Amino acid sequence: MSASADKTPRVALVTGTSSGIGASVVEHFCQQGFQVLAVDFNEAGEKVASEHGAVFHQADLTDPEACKGAVKEAIKRFGRVDILVNNAGIQHVSQIESFPEEKWQAIMNLMLTAPFLLTKEAWPSMRENGWGRIVNIASIHAQVASPGKAAYVTAKHGLIGMTKTAALEGGEQGITANAICPAYVQTPLVDNQIADQAKMHNMDEQEVIEKIMLKDAAIKRLIDPSEVAQLVSYLCSDAAGAITGSSLNIDLGWTAH
Ligand code: NAD
Repeated sequence: MSASADKTPRVALVTGTSSGIGASVVEHFCQQGFQVLAVDFNEAGEKVASEHGAVFHQADLTDPEACKGAVKEAIKRFGRVDILVNNAGIQHVSQIESFPEEKWQAIMNLMLTAPFLLTKEAWPSMRENGWGRIVNIASIHAQVASPGKAAYVTAKHGLIGMTKTAALEGGEQGITANAICPAYVQTPLVDNQIADQAKMHNMDEQEVIEKIMLKDAAIKRLIDPSEVAQLVSYLCSDAAGAITGSSLNIDLGWTAH
């Protein structure tokens, strides 16, 4: 019997929870009564988790052992993992010619290898319970590229491939896997990018928002993290049981051109 059918609360592991989208997902999951392991390398995640009633687990997910340890911790505390949200991410903006190799590697480790390892480690629990939800926070940069973002664009495109593969492998086991592709969300990750892009394009920060970030958007505003978190919640509900292998855009029309 699945966790919701016997009224046991869902168990969710969410990564990248000290701010932005991940913090909002923790809040929304806790509001639904889920048991949540909030995983982040930044100890600010402790405050976010305790505010909402989640359990914080500090881990640097660029370390493969830390990824495996995070899933083990969820199983130790809550007995299983029903939901995995791969959200932790970083950005680095510079042209390929000057792109630091260590940044490339860190982005691949965090945004491609960690979601793979977390999925692999959580899979047996989902399979045994016949129910699982994997949501990968990708990006519009999983579908289109922008200059200066080689590692980010590559990792996000790769994440879509892994999402589709997990969907095909999970179909017979009650496990769905989907990706969400947001355009610019008002979070610290974007605040840092505004500053980086301003330097790279020799613009002021307002110009970066208007001429780069919102140029291709039909709706001219940044997205609120809770708008993404609500889509995550929907994909993790029983109502979304027929959606798998999808990449859902929440992009203000950015990719409609
Ligand atoms: P954010 O910077 O607010 O959150 C990222 C989180 O990841 C932080 O809590 C940070 O501490 C954590 N993190 C970073 N490195 C880590 C590591 N090594 N180990 C563990 N945790 C680590 O940014 P956000 O905008 O909320 O980003 C969340 C996800 O959404 C990312 O995958 C990002 O690529 C994606 N995304 C964001 C936007 C946007 O515009 N903000 C758009 C599309 C996709």
